[in-house]
Amino acid sequence: MLSKRLGGIEESATIKMGHLAKQLEDEGKEVLNFSLGEPDFKTPSHICDAAKKALDLGYTHYTSSAGITELREAIATKLRKENKVEVNADDVIVTPGGKQAIYEVMMSLLDEGDEVLLLDPAWVSFEAVIKIAGGRPRWVKRLEERVNYRALESAVSKKTKMIVMNSPNNPVGYVLSENELQEIAELAREHNLFVLSDEIYEKIIYERNHVSIASLDGMQERTILINGFSKTYAMTGWRIGYAAAPAEILRGMLRIQQHSVTCASSISQYAALAGLVNSQDCVKEMVAEFKKRRDVIVSRLNGIGLPCLNPEGAFYVFANTARYGNGVEFTERLLKEAFIIVTPGSAFGDAGTDYVRFSYATSMQKIIEGMDRIEEMLS
Ligand code: GLU
Repeated sequence: MLSKRLGGIEESATIKMGHLAKQLEDEGKEVLNFSLGEPDFKTPSHICDAAKKALDLGYTHYTSSAGITELREAIATKLRKENKVEVNADDVIVTPGGKQAIYEVMMSLLDEGDEVLLLDPAWVSFEAVIKIAGGRPRWVKRLEERVNYRALESAVSKKTKMIVMNSPNNPVGYVLSENELQEIAELAREHNLFVLSDEIYEKIIYERNHVSIASLDGMQERTILINGFSKTYAMTGWRIGYAAAPAEILRGMLRIQQHSVTCASSISQYAALAGLVNSQDCVKEMVAEFKKRRDVIVSRLNGIGLPCLNPEGAFYVFANTARYGNGVEFTERLLKEAFIIVTPGSAFGDAGTDYVRFSYATSMQKIIEGMDRIEEMLS
């Protein structure tokens, strides 16, 4: 009954585990949820106030499909100032979440059989969306070792159209080094590839500086930069993302947007604008708290025999479960024996088979309690 297009497309593993946690909580079970990557903080009050004001002013109708001009201008200013990407409001589209932007890019650029390079492991929806758009993912391993030019180049074929990167990364938490960015850029220029750069965790970074690949020589004309408000401002439910892209790609995305969702929520767009143009202290406070949590969870996991790298950004730890079985087995065991919900690493690609992902976008108290429960379970 369902279209062939959906053949082999699984439910989103992150969302599935998030729903499971919610369902068990509703049943009164004392689960500890480390699945969904969703900040537990409240959306800052000045952002909520801007939404209330938008309601009072009657900004409750369709907006221009690409988004309200004020927000696109503020995004363009931010991209020029912080990311050294020379764009104007017309180079930006506001979408209902970063995910919709990614979907529109794939639908705009991929033809049946076009190949897309993906760094393994990668966020669960990239592979699905590439396939829905008729493309073929080509995985290149990048877990503990850095990505290198040769590995990338050997995955390039005549059909390769795009490379997807996501730094700071979900699920591992690495931040791509200048060298890696230069190598990816060189490959893209050499083989005439587009780069989809998902920078949604840009602000949640602890160790390095974030560099947008679009700012490197000759890259803006082939880069689609994706970002959004969900993670930075704890605004997951408001559904506001954006893309900056070359004009023709943006026109393609806009057509899809017009024929599907029309525009992002008007009220959410005014709220996002308030997030962007006001003090960023709220972001600094949230990031400082994420860093404290990271330090605790990383040290506890390493201490109990679930080795993991120290994430340089985002709010995930990718922990190796090999001592106790593969990631799927360990996920089931955590649920049954400790009422802890994580996402199995295999959902992010083959490189994640012996891993599970913990999201530490949850309170310190829950992190400590969760680590205590796991320690007890394994002892
Ligand atoms: N991006 C978050 C995650 O990886 C939220 C869920 C999703 O969009 O997959 O958990």
